[in-house]
Amino acid sequence: MEEVGTGLLDRLDAMQRVAASAPGGPLLIVAGPGTGKTRTLTHRIAYLCAELGVFPERCLAITFTRRAAAELKERLDALLGDVAEDITVGTFHSLGLAVLKENAKAAGLGANWRIADEREQAQAREQAGVDDAAYRKLLRQQDLVDLDDLISLPVSLLRDDQALVERYRKRWQWIFVDEYQDVDELQYELLRLLSPPDGNLCAIGDPDQAIYSFRGADVRYFLRFNSDFVDARLVRLTRNYRSSAPILAAAVQAIAPSSLVSGRRLDPARLDPESPLVGRYPARSVADEADFVVRTIDELVGGLSHRSLDSGRVDSRATVTGTVSFSDVAVLYRTDAQSGPILDALSRAGVPVQKRSHNRLRDRPGVQVIARELRHAGGLGGSLAARVKLAAQVLAQRYAAPTLDGEQLAPEDVWSAADLLIPLALRVGDDLPLFLQQLETGAEVDALDPRAEAVNLLTLHAAKGLEFPVVFLVGCEDGLLPLRWPGSAPTDDEIAEERRLFFVGLTRAQDRLYVSYSAKRFRHGSEREQSPTPFLDVIDSGLFERLGEATPSKPKDRQLRLL
Ligand code: ATP
Ligand code: MG
Repeated sequence: MEEVGTGLLDRLDAMQRVAASAPGGPLLIVAGPGTGKTRTLTHRIAYLCAELGVFPERCLAITFTRRAAAELKERLDALLGDVAEDITVGTFHSLGLAVLKENAKAAGLGANWRIADEREQAQAREQAGVDDAAYRKLLRQQDLVDLDDLISLPVSLLRDDQALVERYRKRWQWIFVDEYQDVDELQYELLRLLSPPDGNLCAIGDPDQAIYSFRGADVRYFLRFNSDFVDARLVRLTRNYRSSAPILAAAVQAIAPSSLVSGRRLDPARLDPESPLVGRYPARSVADEADFVVRTIDELVGGLSHRSLDSGRVDSRATVTGTVSFSDVAVLYRTDAQSGPILDALSRAGVPVQKRSHNRLRDRPGVQVIARELRHAGGLGGSLAARVKLAAQVLAQRYAAPTLDGEQLAPEDVWSAADLLIPLALRVGDDLPLFLQQLETGAEVDALDPRAEAVNLLTLHAAKGLEFPVVFLVGCEDGLLPLRWPGSAPTDDEIAEERRLFFVGLTRAQDRLYVSYSAKRFRHGSEREQSPTPFLDVIDSGLFERLGEATPSKPKDRQLRLL
């Protein structure tokens, strides 16, 4: 636990401090990437609780992913110690779930309601055809809800019951929402029901990082915060602490044509004179691009093949020793299909890799059979984690266990699923229903270890909010980023969103950024000639170091110096 009291805001800059210590009432913090939004948010909550006597049980902090929620909770624990336990921290879905649990009967749910699994949802969809109402009716007949219901049912409950609204408004008098640019209509409505127009609602986000409109998110809610909430206070954070000056300059130029923030400013806090330029690599082929990534990681990490052969582990962090370690590196791509060749090339070179995705935990091989075993063997003794292990043992012993959809499973699948589920079991205590529900709502990204000594492979969407010393943004090609399907041209809005996604990718990098593209790529069933994305054209060519053109690529400064 860090010192609480006068020093609490010392680690913030002047504007962050203004935001963290602003009085109650609606507060909108507009802040670009790397400007310390999470830092400011957690310090604001800590400051309110520790200095202004706000009761932690009156605070509700909401984010979009469980990973972000866990990180928020961790940072609050560090700032506030035990006091943080009383703060409600969660995702929109977990908030909806909590409200629904308390009001299941009023929402018309039976005693044994639960979240439908994939198969149950698919069945209901198939039976209902395109009729959404029929689909929901079918779910309800089986006392099932889906993820959308987790928000829509509480919203309709609250809409019709002012007394209930008042009860929740009393309980959570201080509400904080991170990544507000990505709220969708129902989430927005839930927030408006929970917070009165003059309530203590603190929303934080960056319209230029709005990347979920395909899922119904609408950045306009962010942009009209001022008219939705009475006398809203606005604070801007413009100092970027994350990226080196050349990386930040390239990112700012890249977003300029689509920026939704009037007078957008993003000033580098880091002005290290030695910062490398943005590496730009035109690959001949997808295989060549993958080789480039491997080769460059090899050079940055330095003799990785020997080290990884030795022990498979490298124990130093970049910031400590001045060299790069595997976990400092992220390879980002637009579509999951791009990960295959990179994954193969890295694995062949002996580089440890972990792939993050938005796949749900339950969709992973092995998870379902273990969960089913747990459901059926509910009476067994021992902790939930021990029961997961036991279930895995039993299942792995059987020659092969069929999954729900009849696929054959190998024992390794069962064990790797158990490796993901045991930490989750430990996190939820012995609450089996909660555990099963987390399987439905949880993404695999939550179960991966951020400290694992491995190169991170992830989609641009999954990379939001994260930062890495070294970032490769691969597949910077027209048609891939912006993404385009054959026979249909993207709308201007879609192109703008793709550009924001590009911006999110560039701004994940702290010290080194590489962009690459391939001259040809297999897409939609045939090999196509590709050209670099036009998004690169608006970036000053002086910010790039062109790699691999004249001589075979060999970065001159093998001895990488960071900071
Ligand atoms: P994104 O939009 O990408 O989610 P963010 O605004 O949430 O970015 P953070 O991740 O909170 O930014 O912060 C970016 C980095 O800057 C972190 O490494 C953080 O520790 C650092 N940082 C933030 N504020 C300060 C500060 N006042 N002094 C030093 N470092 C800071
Ligand atoms: Mg953030």
